[in-house]
Amino acid sequence: MSFTIQNALVTVENGYETADVEVVDNCISAIAQNLEPVETIIDGKNKLLLPGFVNAHTHSSEMWQRGIIPPLPLELWIAELYDFTPLEPEQIYLSALGTAVETLLSGGTSVVDHLVLIPGKELETIAAAVRAYQEIGIRAFIGPLIQDESLTAGMPTGDSAIERAAYTRPTKATLELMETAIKQFHKPEKGVNILLAPTGIQLCSDALFEGCIDLGDRYNICLHAHLLETSAQKQLAHEKYGCSAVEHLQKIGFLTPRTSLAHCVWLEDSDIAILAETESTVVHNPLSNLRLGSGIAPILKYRKAGVNVSFGCDGAASNDSQDLLEAIKIGSILHNITDLDYRHWITPRQSVEMASQGAAKGLNVADEMGSLTVGKKADFVLYDLTSLSLLPRTDPIGLLILGRPTNAVNSVWVNGQQIVAEGKVKTIDVDALRRELFDRSEWTSKRQSPMVGEIEAHYRQVMKLPIGG
Ligand SMILES: [Zn+2]
Repeated sequence: MSFTIQNALVTVENGYETADVEVVDNCISAIAQNLEPVETIIDGKNKLLLPGFVNAHTHSSEMWQRGIIPPLPLELWIAELYDFTPLEPEQIYLSALGTAVETLLSGGTSVVDHLVLIPGKELETIAAAVRAYQEIGIRAFIGPLIQDESLTAGMPTGDSAIERAAYTRPTKATLELMETAIKQFHKPEKGVNILLAPTGIQLCSDALFEGCIDLGDRYNICLHAHLLETSAQKQLAHEKYGCSAVEHLQKIGFLTPRTSLAHCVWLEDSDIAILAETESTVVHNPLSNLRLGSGIAPILKYRKAGVNVSFGCDGAASNDSQDLLEAIKIGSILHNITDLDYRHWITPRQSVEMASQGAAKGLNVADEMGSLTVGKKADFVLYDLTSLSLLPRTDPIGLLILGRPTNAVNSVWVNGQQIVAEGKVKTIDVDALRRELFDRSEWTSKRQSPMVGEIEAHYRQVMKLPIGG
């Protein structure tokens, strides 16, 4: 598949210039003015071409519960989420498609799906997500979400004991499942990558982390996990390890240049130094951190310490959308309130780099994607600069990142394949998807989560919140 995008606006050091971009065999083969066109010609006039962004942390099946979970902190929110989690692989397929559509139409060309597995149908769950992502053509990094401790283990005990039920699947069986998933589904050349993704220190034993590190080394697979999303997790880490979670993860070898860590809200300066030293990547999910009251991740400190940072939407039940441009905007300007020195604030161009190159680095694919560079994969997005939301004409990247772009994505290519044209996804039937999502759900405002009822009193006690009332 070969084509030439003519007269698109591309970024140069301190501004923009108009150039042609040629793609041959899925890769960018030339960027220059007045190229001799090959095969298909794409009109790039009055359009901005940027590398594709990465939705670097989400949980696609949460889409079934967006908008319904009341304002709750993570530890109670997740109990409700698990009480109503989808149980059919077909639902997984549909919500993966929905997540992909929203990601593509907000500037993303890749998605990291920390995929919640249906108990007893684990491989079917992964297969359903793989099918969706391959059909639509987005580049997928699927990290089956694994744990080996039951949900109540995720809370600090404080002074009181909480009953801790054994987890249903033994650690060894989980690791065998991951090895099967790697062998069956990890096909980077076909746009599907498997990640080893223990959910986090709150629900995983060292044996599980160490098994993932071992599999990662053997199969050259990236590692992914949640890290210190809430203050309760910080407290739990000290109860569990007698040191910080970051110190512990470094000690067991989980922190590497191909490890990406979602959230990282509650880190000390000494932890930040460890992330810099181990070249781990932070995935910033500002909207879910706000929605769940988790806190503000110290992103400016990370950047100052040289820690690589990218952006994620996080699951749609804690966001409650999958608009990547929205996550990038909030995730960039939110930090201005944390540092008076405006010279540390994130510029729109830096945001673009974090969302593309930064994310690629954390997924160990920076040599292949993340920038408009000859030789890299043709994963990029053409934005329509005549969209009302991007007018009048000022700085295109400023308008895109700081503004509220609507209908701005004109075309998207992944691996040289055009997936979006004239603002419409052309690889799948989006109207049919809308019908399925509609027909398989209902309007509702109230539901009762049994698990929230069971653990709320303990949570309030541990977090020193007033009981009763
Ligand atoms: Zn998450």
